[in-house]
Amino acid sequence: MTHLPLFLGQGSAYIRFSGQPPMESKMPQDNSVTITIEEYLEYRSQYIGVCLGCGDTRESCEPDADNYPCESCGESKVQGPDNLLAMGLVE
Ligand SMILES: [Zn+2]
Repeated sequence: MTHLPLFLGQGSAYIRFSGQPPMESKMPQDNSVTITIEEYLEYRSQYIGVCLGCGDTRESCEPDADNYPCESCGESKVQGPDNLLAMGLVE
């Protein structure tokens, strides 16, 4: 049903852990997710948001989506690409 050519963790997107011990790497804190400018443009055109809780992406996300529910971790931490840009999470 979905044919997204991009997946966090497989391409140039990655999750940055700031001083977290490896054992807690599965629970990144807020603002630990960064995307590239290329992904920003793709997400924006495809209405994809990024969860700051788990780093996963979801569709049907407006560019300025703020704290949308995440389908992967259940937390309402999905931000639209414009918000990621405003938060300095686009490199
Ligand atoms: Zn999530």
